[in-house]
Amino acid sequence: MPKRLTKRGDQRTPLGGSWDVIVCGASFAGLTVARQLAGSEARVLVLDRYAIGERQTSACGIPTEWLRVMGLEASARQEFGELVVHTPHGTTRYQLPWTFSTFDYRQLCELLWAQCDAEFETAKVNGRSGETVRTDRGDVSAPLIVDALGWRRILASDGGYQPPDAPLSRGLEVHPEGGSDDLEIWIDRRYVPAGYGWSFPARDEQRIGVGSFDPRFHVKDTTVLLADDLERAPVRYQGNWIPHKLRAGTEDEIFFVGDSGGHCLPLTAEGIRTAFYFGIKLGDELREVVEGRQDREAALREYAQFVDSHEWKFRWLLRAQRLVPKLPARAQRAVIRACGRKRFVDWAFGHYLRIAPPEFAGSPPRPRDAREPVATAA
Ligand SMILES: Cc1cc2nc3c(=O)[nH]c(=O)nc-3n(C[C@H](O)[C@H](O)[C@H](O)COP(=O)(O)OP(=O)(O)OC[C@H]3O[C@@H](n4cnc5c(N)ncnc54)[C@H](O)[C@@H]3O)c2cc1C
Repeated sequence: MPKRLTKRGDQRTPLGGSWDVIVCGASFAGLTVARQLAGSEARVLVLDRYAIGERQTSACGIPTEWLRVMGLEASARQEFGELVVHTPHGTTRYQLPWTFSTFDYRQLCELLWAQCDAEFETAKVNGRSGETVRTDRGDVSAPLIVDALGWRRILASDGGYQPPDAPLSRGLEVHPEGGSDDLEIWIDRRYVPAGYGWSFPARDEQRIGVGSFDPRFHVKDTTVLLADDLERAPVRYQGNWIPHKLRAGTEDEIFFVGDSGGHCLPLTAEGIRTAFYFGIKLGDELREVVEGRQDREAALREYAQFVDSHEWKFRWLLRAQRLVPKLPARAQRAVIRACGRKRFVDWAFGHYLRIAPPEFAGSPPRPRDAREPVATAA
């Protein structure tokens, strides 16, 4: 069972007041925005219903270089230079031009938080009116409000998406003990008609799951089936909806980032590095505001345009997401094998990485001990 760190009972004192920036959501996207504001002297409040790092939200796999440029390498658990793709008609090993790593969620969040100088409070965000965010502990306000709350897009005026009638995929995984040397995916209708199964080893833990592009397909039984096939126990479940369509970066003077902005990539459901990428851009725009170099309207415009400029990349991936499941199984196998040639893999994975390239993050941050102390979450 995950250890409960969230404030309860007497600790849940009323919350109120004003800040320069309120970041709702303390996972990949929200913590990245707060990190970009560190040292700006802005008063930044980060809110989450759980303590930082308490509830893992993904299989935690990412191109390794993103961990390095963000100063998060210490959270890495296992590194892979190959991706093993299984179909019912054969297996192909892709030699990747860059490596992929799994990491520990709690440790990564703590490392990100150590790069911030914001205040943190555990509170459930219920909604917003104007510059006021309503939480279960009271109302807080700021002229700059960020929704990094995940796919629900809670602070949107239309109330967000309602599954299953929304462009959402469904993902579920189990976290048994055990290990493996291979990063593996399965494109196999036995597990899911449209989507894929995965096994992401993380040293002494294996993250085994199934993602369905069709939100109506329930993945619980086939997640158990895949775990059984790998002779692993289906224990410690973790799952969520995964948005697969890019959305407007701003709405009603609110900034949306990470899954709330639809920043998870279609086809692969990779949403961590894009949460970092768009979080960096948003944090930098907000910093320009709090340091007096632009006004809020300029930041809203700039960030919205930046997000929109990525629309065609997301659209192409979404097309591929719709096309691949329609191919007969043998054609899928033929395509996967043909795509396994080294030159093609280098080209395709190079382009794929450049959708949200690690160079965007700039240099790794300086070591923590060179800075002022920060407030802790627990
Ligand atoms: C099973 C599964 C496996 C995945 N594996 C990978 C992977 O290996 N690699 C990858 O790149 N992507 C993966 N993804 C996608 C990835 O998890 C998301 O794209 C990513 O987590 C988005 O980050 P985020 O910060 O926007 O949102 P989240 O990580 O979802 O964080 C949202 C935060 O908001 C908080 N919150 C939500 N509602 C409220 C509220 N009302 N009040 C207060 N706080 C609230 C939550 O507690 C959470 O901390 C996976 C997704 C799933 C479902």
